[in-house]
Amino acid sequence: MCEHKEFEANVHIDRLVDGDLISFIANIMVTCKQCGKPMVFIGLPPGISASQPTVSFNKSTVRLPIVPMAHELDNERPAQALTYTEQPNSNGI
Ligand SMILES: [Zn+2]
Repeated sequence: MCEHKEFEANVHIDRLVDGDLISFIANIMVTCKQCGKPMVFIGLPPGISASQPTVSFNKSTVRLPIVPMAHELDNERPAQALTYTEQPNSNGI
């Protein structure tokens, strides 16, 4: 029985585009380095949003909306709400 004492994190960034670029999404997955079991993120809604953190349908990927720091400080382009409800794909992800 693994006690899950070491972890690996994988991060990749998606550009969220709907005609114009809307936002960047940091996708983060964490697995146990010893047994390979994916960790799930709790307490977040499923889907993708440019304005709030969400999780994949199976909760193994947290999706964090990000913008370059200058954008946030200048408040020139506040994140627009773009949210959809995700359906599970054939991989269950
Ligand atoms: Zn483990």
